[in-house]
Amino acid sequence: MEFLDVPTVLKVSALFNLMAALAWLTLAQTFRIAPRAGRLMAAAHLVRIASQGCGDCMAGWPGLLRQAIPEFGLLACAVLLLMALRRMLRSRQRPRDISWIGGLGAMGIALGLASGSGLAPQVASTFSVALLALMSMREVVRGIGGQLSRVVTACTTLPFAAMAAVTLTHAAELLLVPGWDDHILNGELPSPARAALWFVVTAAITISLIALMIWRLIRRIQHLTYRDPLTGALNRRAFEQALGEAQAQLQRGRGFALAMIDIDHFKRVNDQHGHQAGDAALQHCVRVWQSCLREVDCLGRLGGEEFCALLPLTGPADLATAASVAERLRHSLAAQPLRWKDVELPLSASFGVALPVADDPRGEVGMARADGELYRAKAEGRNRVCVATHLGGIATA
Ligand code: GH3
Ligand code: MG
Ligand code: MG
Repeated sequence: MEFLDVPTVLKVSALFNLMAALAWLTLAQTFRIAPRAGRLMAAAHLVRIASQGCGDCMAGWPGLLRQAIPEFGLLACAVLLLMALRRMLRSRQRPRDISWIGGLGAMGIALGLASGSGLAPQVASTFSVALLALMSMREVVRGIGGQLSRVVTACTTLPFAAMAAVTLTHAAELLLVPGWDDHILNGELPSPARAALWFVVTAAITISLIALMIWRLIRRIQHLTYRDPLTGALNRRAFEQALGEAQAQLQRGRGFALAMIDIDHFKRVNDQHGHQAGDAALQHCVRVWQSCLREVDCLGRLGGEEFCALLPLTGPADLATAASVAERLRHSLAAQPLRWKDVELPLSASFGVALPVADDPRGEVGMARADGELYRAKAEGRNRVCVATHLGGIATA
């Protein structure tokens, strides 16, 4: 590593951290992209500049200060990084665990400094940082939650694992290799390899965070594109896309059923309790239905108070299964009135269930059949499920 001299590595690292801090701040303040996570990341990068030092710039400073700044700085960096990750991944904020680890780590560093030891402050900071890095790793895996491939998840988690490994190895060195106390008390610079390794880990963590931010943006755009903003159900376009894909699967023998849904006398809710109550009723219906459906089922809002559920069938396509799902949806809504301003508003819906037909790429025939059954349910008195039983199995157009 003779080609690397430590002050140069530290300067390059400081420049990188400064640019990263500015980039996060610009994204947060100017473009309002992940603003809270961005501000925390900017703070982490700025603290990193202060904590890593720059070679000989602290040469004339009192020894205690030279020792305290890197240890408190590194700990603060790890704390800010974990907080930023939690914001970025929108995971449940648990400030208590961070406060405990950060607080105990800071106390350990302070006590170590007060004792005059070179080793104790570094051991305290190293173990706390390693623990925070392991928690960051867990946060990334949990935040991704199986929504990305294993390879991508592993690549995103790797920099945090590297941070934990580097700090734990250093902790072991401090405890096992004699002479560290003197190195630290004399204010010696880290080895070029160590300085370069920290730079690589910092850069990799930044890239990982940027990848997570892009993923978050993509998910947000997908949500805006495919979801109905009021209820969160699939919008018409997304539902039609899902239907087209299901029709393609039908050719490969994977059946599904359609349940067309229309809320009964919905206009009365608007007329008697106002449009806001109507909106709340729509949200309530979707909440109730989503809780009854499986993850593979799709619920789409086709418009107004009309919905359609696409129900993939695991066994041979049979209407009885789909009819029982629709019956469960109907019953759940009827059993759970909407609470609106201390009033209970009973709600019900009518259902038309039908199977699709082959050679119908857009699923229009199946939809029309389910719609016909829905009209029959309305005509027969509402709050009921009508099933296109006469079709029996998958019909051909
Ligand atoms: P039926 O039992 O025959 O289906 O009667 P209905 O009152 O449910 O049906 P109708 O088609 O007469 O009324 C639907 C109403 O849904 C009319 C429209 O104002 C209301 N609506 C459509 N979209 C929304 C929405 O996004 N929010 C609210 N609050 N109301 C909506
Ligand atoms: Mg209606
Ligand atoms: Mg309607």
